[in-house]
Amino acid sequence: MKNFNHLLEKRELLINCNLRDTERCQWRPTGNIKATSGDNVCVSLVCEKCDSRTNVFLNENSYKNHEKILLKEIARV
Ligand SMILES: [Zn+2]
Repeated sequence: MKNFNHLLEKRELLINCNLRDTERCQWRPTGNIKATSGDNVCVSLVCEKCDSRTNVFLNENSYKNHEKILLKEIARV
């Protein structure tokens, strides 16, 4: 299982999972990826455990770095 928590900023990582207070959310991409203005890419993530949703904005370079693994994970779902 690939963990996508490294895509998130610290403040989001500090959110406790709704399902289990002692654990952090386990994020995976939802398949919703869209380009936004300013060369950013918006990636929607969902917690596998509690179904919380969040968006991360990646600049073009960091998106390219993660693109293969994101698309692979999306295809798996
Ligand atoms: Zn969660």
